[in-house]
Amino acid sequence: MRGLFITFEGLDGSGKTTQIGLLEKYLEGRGFEVISTIEPGGTPVGNKIRDILLDKNNTGMSYRAETLLFEASRAELVSRVISPALSEGKIVICDRFFDSTIAYQGIARGLGSGWITDLSLWATGGLQPDITFLLSLEVDKGEKRFKDNYKPKDRIESEKEQFKEKIYRGYLSLAEKFPGRITVIDGSRDIGTISSIIKEKVDGLLSR
Ligand code: ADP
Repeated sequence: MRGLFITFEGLDGSGKTTQIGLLEKYLEGRGFEVISTIEPGGTPVGNKIRDILLDKNNTGMSYRAETLLFEASRAELVSRVISPALSEGKIVICDRFFDSTIAYQGIARGLGSGWITDLSLWATGGLQPDITFLLSLEVDKGEKRFKDNYKPKDRIESEKEQFKEKIYRGYLSLAEKFPGRITVIDGSRDIGTISSIIKEKVDGLLSR
């Protein structure tokens, strides 16, 4: 039996890490085997690529090189971690997947969402998430969470707010395009409420 592939999307600070932790615990409590991973990274090669992508010394990297590095990390993660786990019937939760590349590089950087979608599907060998939770949080609210937590920002998190606005709108346009796969959740709601919405949706998929 093929497992279940769940991805989380949203701007930094939108609550992905928090919700993934809660969902993982919940599913493990129900007796499922869960693999939780992150993009870019999640493999030895992917972690090296992650370091290049997030290194603040690499300002001015060309957008196309940036995109291909994300896709290379993703291809490695799918072939080494995600696909094998799904074949074994496990649940895979991924913090970001190709919707991030479509929103950030395709829409916000202006490389074209059609190209990036095709490239992403090529990189994953056609693999798509069964369900994607988009934690939608207005840019200023996400920024405030950063300020409250004093977490140092990496190269991409340091982008200007205008860029983040484009991502925010890009994500919402993706959700409109794929309403069956992407569930939009208001990220400003409280942690427990968001978690309940996610659990209910995942329970529904698991009982099919
Ligand atoms: P992300 O992984 O998307 O960057 P995090 O889960 O790390 O987001 O959350 C960023 C910060 O916001 C953390 O300090 C977290 O405790 C807090 N946070 C997460 N979800 C909520 C929420 N629904 N309401 C208020 N604060 C939240």
